[in-house]
Amino acid sequence: MKIIDSHLHFSRILAFEKAAAHNGVNYSQEGLISELSEHQVVAGVCMGLTESEEGKFPDEHTHGVMNCDLEKLPDNIYFCAGINPHKLDSDSLSRLGAILQQDKCAGIKIYAGYYQFYVADDIYEPVYELALKYQLPVVIHSGSTYSPKGLLKYSHPLTIDDLATKHPHLKIVVAHFGNPWIQDVAELIYKHENIYVDLSGILEGDAELFHRISSEELYMNRFRTALIQADNYRRFMYGSDWPLSSMKIYIDFIKRMIPQKHWQAVFYDNALEVFERIKFT
Ligand SMILES: [Zn+2]
Repeated sequence: MKIIDSHLHFSRILAFEKAAAHNGVNYSQEGLISELSEHQVVAGVCMGLTESEEGKFPDEHTHGVMNCDLEKLPDNIYFCAGINPHKLDSDSLSRLGAILQQDKCAGIKIYAGYYQFYVADDIYEPVYELALKYQLPVVIHSGSTYSPKGLLKYSHPLTIDDLATKHPHLKIVVAHFGNPWIQDVAELIYKHENIYVDLSGILEGDAELFHRISSEELYMNRFRTALIQADNYRRFMYGSDWPLSSMKIYIDFIKRMIPQKHWQAVFYDNALEVFERIKFT
């Protein structure tokens, strides 16, 4: 089965390098290319992120528009421009406008919770205007933060209700299924036509951790219940959050969660509807 990975990382972030080393992932161009080809991942979307100094993430002092390591990014990987709201001046916004017109730009990433603003805060309004202008989706970090410096009140998925109501034509991707508030995300899907979900980063760790947690049916059933409640598999996309786990482990985990008759939609078709810039030549 061909796969599109709707959420991965490829930039120099110390916390990711450490996690990759711990989880046995080769976090390099060579490692990425080999995992993509080994698992038939034919395209992917890299979430732009930078730090001004090693270990600073989440970093207020880095660029207003954060990108992936573009020079080393394989040809079949697109990117979302990451936003640092602390540095969103007019120069950053014009730079963002130029980046959004690049063929390889598939959308925008907002790091809610890491940056302490609600997603419907006016500070992000010019970013949403640009997303609407170029008809690009906005991916919003949601749920648990991968840093104790984050604040959960800003990453809780219910905060996205305000934004989706204010901008009914903005395509919004709730990252990580908003875990652990997955039932709230099911409600967002039910209520709003412009909400999609990526299933990345629900677990992070090595093979032992994935095996131990995902063999607990009580744990897996929480997700299956929320998926039934949402009742719309066209809104869910596979994503790995690589390098926080290996692609193989994460694909197997999502296959256990999603009924097989929906694999084609979740692992491939839905990503092409959300990230319309993804093209195969
Ligand atoms: Zn991520």
